[in-house]
Amino acid sequence: MKWTKRNIIIALVIVAIIILIYINRVNVKKAITSGIQSVLSIQQESYLSDLHPAVRDKFRQFINEVQQKTGYTIIVTSGYRSFQKQAQLYAENNKNAPPGGSPHNYGLALDINAQKGTTWLRKASTENAWLSSGIIDIADRMGLRWGGRFNGYPDRVHFDMMKFYNITQLKNLALQQFGSLENAQGNQINLV
Ligand SMILES: [Zn+2]
Repeated sequence: MKWTKRNIIIALVIVAIIILIYINRVNVKKAITSGIQSVLSIQQESYLSDLHPAVRDKFRQFINEVQQKTGYTIIVTSGYRSFQKQAQLYAENNKNAPPGGSPHNYGLALDINAQKGTTWLRKASTENAWLSSGIIDIADRMGLRWGGRFNGYPDRVHFDMMKFYNITQLKNLALQQFGSLENAQGNQINLV
């Protein structure tokens, strides 16, 4: 084969195609190994993206593991809640936590429902229904706190990371870092 201009161009095109095939294979491999993200729904991801960055991966792993191991689909019903929103809820009903008093105000909690076929797990579902789903075992193993064990007023849809944080401390951090609770963005506080 002579090294005419035409042959050189053909050779370069072939090399370029081989490189593109290789890059594509590497990307496919990456997509498979980071599959945790890709199996979650847009609805789930949008709640996850508002959580505090320190706990986002933990909750992503939780949802993923529940769906893979129990066959239940998770429907997130509440995640990060601003101080303003919490103030509104408190004004409506003083049984709700005051602003800064809920782990949701720091993006450290999710409320979820779960569905498998015709079976639904919701706020009113029994403790036993939740326990026998296998979801609580996974939460326990991952260090999540389940609201179903709250004394007095069990909140079975609630899961949070409060085994690792203290609400008074979080409130103080929000005040220190944002000057006032009204201005605080709880899901952005620097957790020291
Ligand atoms: Zn909750």
